[in-house]
Amino acid sequence: MERFNITSDRLRDMAEEYGSFYLYDGAIIEGQAKSLKEAFSGIDFLYSVKCNPYPKILQTLCDLGYGADAASAGEVLRAEEAGFLPEDIYYVAPGKTRSDIRRTWGKCTLIADSLDEVRWIDEEAERAAAPDDAPIHIGLRINPDFGFENGDPAPSKFGVDEDQAIAALSHWHGAAGMMSLRRVSVKGLQVHLRSQVLDTEALRIYYHKVLELADRFGEVCGGLDFVDMGSGIGVPYAPGDQPLDIRTLGKAVEEELCTFRKKWPGTRIMIETGRYLTCQAGLFVTTVVDRKVSCGRTYIILRDTMNQFLRPSLARLVVHYAREHAPEGREPLFTAADAFPFWVVKRVGGADKSSGSAGASDRMETVTLTGRLCTAADVIAEDVSLPKLSPGDAVIIGNAGSYAATLSPWAFSSMEKPTEFFI
Ligand SMILES: *Cc1c(COP(=O)(O)O)cnc(C)c1O
Repeated sequence: MERFNITSDRLRDMAEEYGSFYLYDGAIIEGQAKSLKEAFSGIDFLYSVKCNPYPKILQTLCDLGYGADAASAGEVLRAEEAGFLPEDIYYVAPGKTRSDIRRTWGKCTLIADSLDEVRWIDEEAERAAAPDDAPIHIGLRINPDFGFENGDPAPSKFGVDEDQAIAALSHWHGAAGMMSLRRVSVKGLQVHLRSQVLDTEALRIYYHKVLELADRFGEVCGGLDFVDMGSGIGVPYAPGDQPLDIRTLGKAVEEELCTFRKKWPGTRIMIETGRYLTCQAGLFVTTVVDRKVSCGRTYIILRDTMNQFLRPSLARLVVHYAREHAPEGREPLFTAADAFPFWVVKRVGGADKSSGSAGASDRMETVTLTGRLCTAADVIAEDVSLPKLSPGDAVIIGNAGSYAATLSPWAFSSMEKPTEFFI
């Protein structure tokens, strides 16, 4: 919370006024965005809109030279509204409908997710283009013939298996002008296998393999306009997580790129990133409504919990079912049991200061934090030690800048949409 350009007094006042809200700090986002760009040369970055599509965040990143990784037609339109240029918006998602393709036509680069989709885009291009227009360049998402971190290749609903893609592209780009596509040409590829990686070497090996794959496809396609290497760059969530050394990673990628560039100097190389830019730049603030003791356990009832910020409750649920096992991450729904830090700001008239969940206080107590929903799964922290809480006090949760407001079932039980602020 120290990184935020706001005092705890101000947060408390806002909590009193709004009950619950998200706060995004533009300076933190800018810091993350600049450090990433500085660490990597020769790479263009795309912001993954789905992690937080708040308009001012999109505008901030657009101004800083980021492109947009859009995961739906709606995200293409939001990126366009925020000022991203069509050539900097890439639309990557499985199952695009004809309507999705039409709505986003001319507003982005389409990255097809199946061979049929390539054909549908081709048909749409026939509808939309004049007879003497140049072919439209699109990309294709590949499910590569390698796994992440020495893993085996795995079945996936995303993209086209590498061998199937090579076979189709050899045909489409085949010799003697045997193009069976009339209006589009596949001139880019996208791969994404893993999010939230904190191991520099694992990421280096992954990028190395993607560039080798791009070389194979470059041969088949007669060169590529772009290679989108997907995401992977993680952030420390839990107290024991070591942050990635992005300078070392940037240097390593630069070396990997050297060989590729010699052969393919004109190909745009991109990395997608969502949470690295915004996760730590968001706070979720809510207020204590009530407290009660049942069979010796103290419950704090908060104004908004999983309805406005799902992930902390989901973490409790996963841990509950995993019992003694350490559950594996499943992004973006679940990262780790202790991924979300808590702070408390006492109401005016209480002990007027903020303190972390492990902070010292003369009146600590062990409590369970729940919300107002009619489900027992509505728990965001169990048996945690916090300063004694009373109605009107604020509870603040960190790591709330990505997959937070946008990934929460706020309409459940006819509750309210989260309020969001950007400073
Ligand atoms: C969700 C997603 C991202 C963003 O992942 P982060 O871990 O937030 O960086 C990037 N690319 C694709 C294809 C995704 O599905």
